[in-house]
Amino acid sequence: MQYPEPIAKLIDSYLKLPGIGEKTATRLAFFTIDMQEDDVADFAQSLVAAKKDLHYCSICGNITESDPCIICADRQRDQTKVIVVEQPKDVMSLERMREYHGLYHVLHGVLSPMEGKGPEDINITGLVKRLQKNTDLKEVIIATNATPEGEATAMYISRLIKPAQIKVTRLAHGLAVGSDIEYADEMTLFKAIEGRQEI
Ligand SMILES: [Zn+2]
Repeated sequence: MQYPEPIAKLIDSYLKLPGIGEKTATRLAFFTIDMQEDDVADFAQSLVAAKKDLHYCSICGNITESDPCIICADRQRDQTKVIVVEQPKDVMSLERMREYHGLYHVLHGVLSPMEGKGPEDINITGLVKRLQKNTDLKEVIIATNATPEGEATAMYISRLIKPAQIKVTRLAHGLAVGSDIEYADEMTLFKAIEGRQEI
């Protein structure tokens, strides 16, 4: 038996979300149908609003409502350091730690020859331009994940910007190999930043 068209469409939409398979998508679709109409309207509205009101900061690439984002716009922050991360959610993780007061740069990915992702596919040019423009920046702390792609990206960036006399460091690996910044607890992140090493 086929599902009625509206349910089939809803299942298809849930299937586009990461980590959701056929079974979960179907369960979510039927759950949605049972929800109060107001709640469904709120849910739909927050989806549309999140997409419409948020964009990427033109300086650091983080997700923001205003451009530049509040971190880039805050002159009280340490303007000499920038942490380079893979994803906006890594910025959130590092900010939760409340121990780092410098700037950020979001790559939106890593170099991955397997997936055909080269330097032009991630936000590396933006970082180089930033370093050329902002002479206050003295240290780039690379906080890509401890995966082979994350390591290769760190080395690539290091080689690219070192000639410009900028100190390049990498987070110490209290972070387990293969682990994501996103899932590290605050103490581990703090130690990783404290113990960062020049590369
Ligand atoms: Zn920004």
